[in-house]
Amino acid sequence: MPETITTTAGPEPKPWISAIHAYVPGRSTGADGQRLIKLSANENPLGTSPAALAARAQAPALYPDPDSTALREAIGAAHGIDPARVVMGTGSDELLNLIAQGYAGPGDEVIYVRYGFSVYDIAARRCGATPVVAPHADYGTDVDALLALVSERTRVVFVANPNNPTGSYLPGGEIARLHAGLPSDVVLVIDQAYAEYVAPQDADGALALSAAHDNVLVTRTFSKIFGLAGERIGWATGAPGLIGTLNRIRGPFNVSATGQAMALAALGDTAFVEASRVHNRDERARFVTRLEALGNHGLRPLPSQANFVLVLFEGALSAEAAFEGLADRGYIVRWLPSQGLPHALRITIGAAHDMDAIADALAEMADAAK
Ligand SMILES: *Cc1c(COP(=O)(O)O)cnc(C)c1O
Repeated sequence: MPETITTTAGPEPKPWISAIHAYVPGRSTGADGQRLIKLSANENPLGTSPAALAARAQAPALYPDPDSTALREAIGAAHGIDPARVVMGTGSDELLNLIAQGYAGPGDEVIYVRYGFSVYDIAARRCGATPVVAPHADYGTDVDALLALVSERTRVVFVANPNNPTGSYLPGGEIARLHAGLPSDVVLVIDQAYAEYVAPQDADGALALSAAHDNVLVTRTFSKIFGLAGERIGWATGAPGLIGTLNRIRGPFNVSATGQAMALAALGDTAFVEASRVHNRDERARFVTRLEALGNHGLRPLPSQANFVLVLFEGALSAEAAFEGLADRGYIVRWLPSQGLPHALRITIGAAHDMDAIADALAEMADAAK
């Protein structure tokens, strides 16, 4: 008979790993398991480019190209970047984690803003670095607040532009000012997961900054406008030293063969990307106008340059009640108490009729809550 074990059994994780709150994904099914319309993960309501879907079949017995050569060349050609300055990741998530791991460790600091992307906290903690959180400016990124926290221990600064979950956006001048204020040995990461949703004339200039300086990385993803979230493909660009670091520590076969082929085709389907951008721009504007009409009920949509809107509930109708009411009507959106936003819902821009139904439901619930 084995003796009863009284001491705590089993291996102990590192204390900085135990301190991590695991990423909380959005729900996608209702209480009784029925499928809901999912507007909680910023996926593309138009789906995936038909060209990308057609590119799917590959030889699954063979390992993928470890260097994603054709895909990096196509990205280089599309953006005017030397492909040697591009590294692919298993989603941009992997790259954000590798950047923290490559440049920060115990005793070092990683800075990001309050209500920044939740992965930055995990990325900082899992390499043992100390997360340093800058105050927000009405839910937006405050460059001066970020710069005020830079110390000799700062190794990495993460900024999502547009930011998730707030949708806020820093113009190019502010991004340049942030970079100019950082020491040259601090890595500035500009996470452009939603860059393709921004009108071309409003681009933030981050790619040019990463081409001109040795301490700037830009990350991009195929998960959002390209409609390939399920395939897990992201990329980063920056100086050869930075890219070399990421290549040293990434998984050698970190992007699947199917993923590489689909991303290559998706990149070429500029009509699909443009249709997605225009749909989002128009439906977002229409949805925000409808929500602004509910301002007297305390609903406040924050200005967004992304494919979602963060709605604050500052009146009688709470975000939690609105979340439950929308779920009852078949819509799953993102309620964010785990990110310090119990008074907010992040709603992905979906099909026109779904946005109308959500706006109708919110109006009805806000009236009833008075
Ligand atoms: C969705 C998102 C990503 C990344 O997604 P991947 O699917 O891992 O490429 C990165 N940053 C932000 C701000 C996001 O919202």
